[in-house]
Amino acid sequence: MQLETIIGLEIHVQLKTKSKMFCRCDNSGEDKPANTTVCPVCMGHPGVLPVANKQAIEWSVMSALAINCNIPNFSKFDRKNYFYPDLPKGYQISQYDQPIGLGGFLIIDTSKGQKKIKITRLHMEEDAAKLQHSADDKWSFVDYNRSSTPLMEIVTEPDMRTPEEAKIFMQELRLIMRHLDVSSADMEKGHLRCDANISLRPVGQDELFPKTEIKNLNSFKAVERALEYEIKRQIKLWEAYRAPDTLATRGWNDAKQITEEQRTKEEAKDYRYFPEPDLPPLTFTPEYIEEMKTKIPELPQAKRLRFIDMYGIAPADAKIIVEDKELANYTEQVISELKGWLISLEGVEGTEEEIWANNKQKLMKLVTGWLINKLGALLNENNLGVRDCKITPENFAELIAMIYQNKLNSATAQTLLTEMFKTGIDPSHALEEGGLKQISDEKEIENIINKIIAANPDPVADYKRGKVQAIKFLVGQVMRATKGKVDPQKVEEILKNKL
Ligand code: ZN
Ligand code: MN
Repeated sequence: MQLETIIGLEIHVQLKTKSKMFCRCDNSGEDKPANTTVCPVCMGHPGVLPVANKQAIEWSVMSALAINCNIPNFSKFDRKNYFYPDLPKGYQISQYDQPIGLGGFLIIDTSKGQKKIKITRLHMEEDAAKLQHSADDKWSFVDYNRSSTPLMEIVTEPDMRTPEEAKIFMQELRLIMRHLDVSSADMEKGHLRCDANISLRPVGQDELFPKTEIKNLNSFKAVERALEYEIKRQIKLWEAYRAPDTLATRGWNDAKQITEEQRTKEEAKDYRYFPEPDLPPLTFTPEYIEEMKTKIPELPQAKRLRFIDMYGIAPADAKIIVEDKELANYTEQVISELKGWLISLEGVEGTEEEIWANNKQKLMKLVTGWLINKLGALLNENNLGVRDCKITPENFAELIAMIYQNKLNSATAQTLLTEMFKTGIDPSHALEEGGLKQISDEKEIENIINKIIAANPDPVADYKRGKVQAIKFLVGQVMRATKGKVDPQKVEEILKNKL
């Protein structure tokens, strides 16, 4: 039997607001001692009244718009009732039938091309407290710091067909949340959490079969691995005529790399949802929605396309650069410096556009290569982000300009970059101080070349006899004698003339 995989995701995004969802408690309680960022409201004491966080609502509307959802004019909070020690009120304030956003989508780039994933809804809710169990399982401890932290829950349609698509969807969503600056969206820290729903069905059927929800996926790798594992497990069940016939919940065991059976899942009716009587409903005027639209910065997909179109950056490079918002900003600053420098160069003819168009491609190759490979390597080695980098975009652009004009060979440029990275020094000063300045005086270069020719009669003879490769050896000798301070192409030219 040919089976196809049906995957949908339920994602929780933790908002990085200053205060919690329904009280004024500090929202950074995860870094604080247990039970120190709490108050009667988030501890669920009787008689207290919640007040909704305005910033959390704004950010949720912006997020919903960013994933192409419609914002209904009316939205409300509901109580989702269940008992658990991490839920002091006995209910979670969430949104049931009138969420903030409906009917969105995201376009993702997969290895098999672009794919549109529809988004069912985005709603707001509060987080539960955190339970910790002692090693011997005799005790459980509750830390209420996380209680009432603002969350957005995003639910997709069952549109994904492979684990890769699920992983890429999550990565794109993380990038959007970071560009919006509403969440750190770190999966490892639990600021971005994902439950994956998966079922199989015979190819050609439209019906959906009971799904299995996989919980505890706290990395992108886990999302992919757990789904791959579950596909294999469910194929075996189908082949044995034992396909899952009820909703099930399984947890991903990262150490064993398997999914394990958990409790069977409650259905909506078990939660006895009803409108939250202590919070007024939300009305969004068209003006408010327009205002929120203006607050949305350029999103990753648009930025990638612009980098490709406007600067001629290769799509693969654009993807890497836009992956990091700071790096994307830095890149644009470097490019704008270079553009200014190029246009002000003496002896260059043409309009600004023409000059730019003529140099763009070669220049951008240098910029992306040095940014991604060289500066990127230094940042990685030192565990730093581009935000902490001491090299200003002006200085980086100057370095690129020097390389572009062949004032530096790549070995010297690498040394300079490392020096600039360490101290923040500008490249022309670093060049003078480090004695790295290129020898550009032709006479001086010729003198050195003459010495090398005199000292290496055998390779010289070889070259004259037609062994073309021998010249590379001689160039190498010159580079060594000058500690790389001459342009190897120039040396080769002079050598050829002399021999
Ligand atoms: Zn509180
Ligand atoms: Mn939820």
